[in-house]
Amino acid sequence: AAGDFQHEVERPKIAFDDVGGMKDLKEEIRVKIIYPLEHPEVYAAYGKTIGGGIMLYGPPGCGKTYLARATAGQINAGFLSIGISDVLDMYIGQSEKQLHQVFAQARANTPCVLFFDEVDALGAKRSDLRGGGQRQMINQFLAELDGVEHSNEGVLVLAATNAPWHVDPAFRRPGRFDRVMFVPPPDDEARADILRLHLAGKPTRDIDYAHLAKNTKNYSGADLKALVDLAVEAKLTESIKRGSPPQPITGADLRAAAKKHKPTTTE
Ligand code: ATP
Repeated sequence: AAGDFQHEVERPKIAFDDVGGMKDLKEEIRVKIIYPLEHPEVYAAYGKTIGGGIMLYGPPGCGKTYLARATAGQINAGFLSIGISDVLDMYIGQSEKQLHQVFAQARANTPCVLFFDEVDALGAKRSDLRGGGQRQMINQFLAELDGVEHSNEGVLVLAATNAPWHVDPAFRRPGRFDRVMFVPPPDDEARADILRLHLAGKPTRDIDYAHLAKNTKNYSGADLKALVDLAVEAKLTESIKRGSPPQPITGADLRAAAKKHKPTTTE
């Protein structure tokens, strides 16, 4: 029932340093939503209004959700992650109530990063909202974003989509998701970083990260994590089967993993 619609407010343990690459994106998030939260007086001194969120778009697995979670961890804020399909309800009126409760929960837990995934599901061109309730749902969302009835102070809104062209243009007006940013597939340097980050704390030997990065073109962050997981799995089954002590993960193990797991992004 809509009356007890509660999501878990997470306390992420990752911060910006745990996210490979994305230097410009991190800076944009700092200036657009973190500094206004931490230093509102400086913005006021320059007559700069505070508010509005950022919409992240890009191919799957390239770290949109991860970056949003790290934003919360970066400032010790709560993190509330909502898939739009979670709040879509087949009964007219319920979706709006659920959406209101999501915002209410974020406002009750400030500072809080409120992250909406798959916002394209609300797009004007999508008709999978049943009962013709789409317009009401969008209007409710816009009213919540605008803070018409309740202030959104301390609520940092981020959204993500793989299909920005489906997102209703009303969402991009000032004070709403007025910054739209591309989260690209990781470049060579970012891929080396991501591999390093996911291997941190594990036993390794003979890993040439620059070389591995060159050989993992089109691998998303999620793909690179999969390579690490595969290499770990191979290593630990080997050690268990042989009854030998844990052996370090090597570049060859990761290259073998790359033969099994193919990249999911394209140029
Ligand atoms: P989707 O559109 O499928 O939701 P997404 O862009 O939100 O994709 P994430 O869920 O953030 O992708 O990424 C999946 C996983 O890949 C993350 O949990 C993380 O382990 C890893 N990953 C992706 N990008 C990075 C990165 N830049 N640094 C470190 N890890 C990353």
